[in-house]
Amino acid sequence: MTLKDKVIFISGSSRGIGLGIARIFAQNGAHVVLNGRKEIASDIIQELENYGVKVRVLLGDVSSFEETKRMIATIKDEFGRLDILVNNAGITRDQLLLRMSEEDFDDVYAINLKGTFNLTKHAIALMLKQKSGTIINITSVVGLAGNAGQVNYASSKAGIIGLTKATAKEVAARGITCNAIAPGYIKTEMTQQLSEKTKESIIQSIPARSIGTVDDIAQAALYLAQAKYVTGQVLSVNGGMYM
Ligand code: NDP
Repeated sequence: MTLKDKVIFISGSSRGIGLGIARIFAQNGAHVVLNGRKEIASDIIQELENYGVKVRVLLGDVSSFEETKRMIATIKDEFGRLDILVNNAGITRDQLLLRMSEEDFDDVYAINLKGTFNLTKHAIALMLKQKSGTIINITSVVGLAGNAGQVNYASSKAGIIGLTKATAKEVAARGITCNAIAPGYIKTEMTQQLSEKTKESIIQSIPARSIGTVDDIAQAALYLAQAKYVTGQVLSVNGGMYM
């Protein structure tokens, strides 16, 4: 499938993995709809437009059912279609279970899991009418393996895997695929918050002995967006961290 003139919406694409995905799809001719809660830098928009594609920014919080509904309705009005949805927006609020507050748990679920539900629910109506579409959900290696200090995050990411498989089964016969990517440890602002000691011990636990890049994840998204006979899968991109 060629990506030229396809429309892709990537939640949480002002930086990090989401922006990396936006770049690779723009380079391949797709029109890109960016999202985040805060303003997106004009040089980012300019850079993507230089690939000769349309770039639209829709600010909004994915945890809000109404805001996600508005964003998908705007895409329908302005582009008439949505070919690829990437549910990428996510946060961490790490803490050992004993010390984890109810708020830390609820915030992570609201953005990571409910946010994925919100956008998928609104987008799927449009994709069903089109009889085509691709959904790519960004989960995590810790959704597969678990991780101390991340009960909230790991279970929200495991929930995304269940959501992915259930959605895939519901819509496979209608020409729509739904898959997940499980990144390992990737260099972004999210992981830069970790201490040098933690980073070093993570690197030692990776068979490839290196951290991943946003481009590693973007390449996986590019593959899934074009793989019409692949659905309900979790594609691990983790340097062998979890097999
Ligand atoms: P970053 O923190 O670098 O970027 C997160 C993006 O999400 C930003 O654009 C942010 O914009 C946006 N965002 C956060 N909350 C919301 C919200 N409520 N509504 C809309 N947008 C929001 O994260 P990464 O790029 O590192 O991570 C991206 C995804 O990949 C996440 O789902 C993460 O869990 C997952 N992942 C990352 C790994 C890593 O090692 N980096 C490993 C495994 C998975 P703004 O602040 O403006 O809202």
